[in-house]
Amino acid sequence: MLVECTFCEAVVDGQLIADHTRFDEESLVEVKYSFLKCPKCAQPFIMIEVNHVDDNDGWDEPRRLYPPTDRGISLAIPNSLRLAYSEAYTCFKAKAYIATAIMCRKTLEGIADENEITARNLATALKEMKEKGIIENRLYEWADVLRISGNEAAHGVNFQITHQDAKDILEFTHALLEYVFTFQEKFDQFKKRQSDSKNANAQ
Ligand SMILES: [Zn+2]
Repeated sequence: MLVECTFCEAVVDGQLIADHTRFDEESLVEVKYSFLKCPKCAQPFIMIEVNHVDDNDGWDEPRRLYPPTDRGISLAIPNSLRLAYSEAYTCFKAKAYIATAIMCRKTLEGIADENEITARNLATALKEMKEKGIIENRLYEWADVLRISGNEAAHGVNFQITHQDAKDILEFTHALLEYVFTFQEKFDQFKKRQSDSKNANAQ
């Protein structure tokens, strides 16, 4: 079965180790799970195939369940930023590393916009985000490195980015998005629940 190996970054012919099929009599749906490994690097995959028995179309295309395919970008992240990030990811998969860095920088600008930062340039915007407590010091440092590599990627004709650097830039961007839009929100809700229950207990 063909599968995209995230480690080899190539489509490989996965070797079947085991599979399991379950038929649900109520919905007339057959679901097959296959456990595969990459013939080159031995990375494991779990694939899922679905067959709606009553429509006679046969099995659907296999989909990869593990490792997850969309890098699990949270739905809490605004749509424009999810689009910018997934474009960065597409560039990375196409081995267009300079374009990856440029799209990551664009994602960073989007994070500042979403937080209503009005600074004229990104360097000042990031400082403002740090001062307002939207990002803390370590994330500010990450973000500033992303900004600089994005600048170099956009303006230096001879500038090169290695595979590893592009991968890191992409992962920092992902972490920033999750931090600013997911964890912060979760933490605020957590604090609110705590104070609500304290208030309820006090009454
Ligand atoms: Zn592999």
